[in-house]
Amino acid sequence: MPLVSMRQLLDEAAKGGYGVGAFNVNNMEQIQAIMEAARETKSPVIVQASRGARQYSQDKYLYHLMLAANELYPEIPLVLHLDHGNSVETCKSAIELGFTSVMMDGSLMPDGKTPSSFDYNVQATREVVAMAHPKGVTVEGEIGCLGGIEDGHGAGLDGLSHLTDPAQAAEFVKLTGLDALAIAIGTSHGAYKFAKKPTGETLKMDRLIEIHKLLPQTHLVMHGSSSVPKDLQDIINQYGGKLKPTWGVPVEEIQLGIKNGVRKINVDTDNRLAITGAIRKVFFEKPEEFDPRSYLKPAREAMKKVVALRMTQFGQAGHAEDYAPLPLSVMAARYEQKRAA
Ligand SMILES: [Zn+2]
Repeated sequence: MPLVSMRQLLDEAAKGGYGVGAFNVNNMEQIQAIMEAARETKSPVIVQASRGARQYSQDKYLYHLMLAANELYPEIPLVLHLDHGNSVETCKSAIELGFTSVMMDGSLMPDGKTPSSFDYNVQATREVVAMAHPKGVTVEGEIGCLGGIEDGHGAGLDGLSHLTDPAQAAEFVKLTGLDALAIAIGTSHGAYKFAKKPTGETLKMDRLIEIHKLLPQTHLVMHGSSSVPKDLQDIINQYGGKLKPTWGVPVEEIQLGIKNGVRKINVDTDNRLAITGAIRKVFFEKPEEFDPRSYLKPAREAMKKVVALRMTQFGQAGHAEDYAPLPLSVMAARYEQKRAA
């Protein structure tokens, strides 16, 4: 089966009323962890790579690892998505390489730091839609600014300072024709999301619900949605790490989001924590070890467990074989039909 359009995966998720985790990758072990978790839970998969990941892996390595994953796990629908494209050019290079979905994050200027104007965002996102849809490639946009910084991308703001305005979100979708919309409802990138335990009022779920009411056909995306579980933090600190106390997004809040139009949930920090904890444990307990496999194998296993748990919690488990993946050419023809109508 070829790499799949994210639009199709999210349309199916909407029909089934579930969410799909989007997990970041930089190397082979992470891809293996995700695919094993997907097989174990029978889940469709969104794998995403940031600009940082593409640089780190020279992106050809990453792309060919994805093709290998596709070949080894033919029963799993697999999307390769660009996370936080900072410019039309970055999205273009991802599409040329073979990504089946791209995010144009026009909420920030191409420096990936400075919040942009609404007009700039519309213009850049429209341009990417015009380039991607004729190839059947999905487009995610963002309105409002997420908190924190991820792989050097982000304004470094507090998650609550630039929340998405629902009316503006509706206008944005109308003007751009995108497929999925990342919204700012109080989440932040990175491990340090909240300095105290979230109360259920921490995320602006009322705003999410309002946006979903205005845009029932648009797939909503929650970024910065790691839960930063205490047990994963504890393993790191137990074996010599120095994480400060921190809290992430409770899974129950994500599940409430999924009931209200959230179809894609970005998770990276939890996997980073799992990997680092497992490696620290081996280093601490077996300081005589020097074969990288002795710590990369448990690291991969630890990440697999987190991913499988999230796949189950988001509801995507059991849905891998619900539908036959459509070739991108069919998706392209659908976009063309819609445009002509
Ligand atoms: Zn993000």
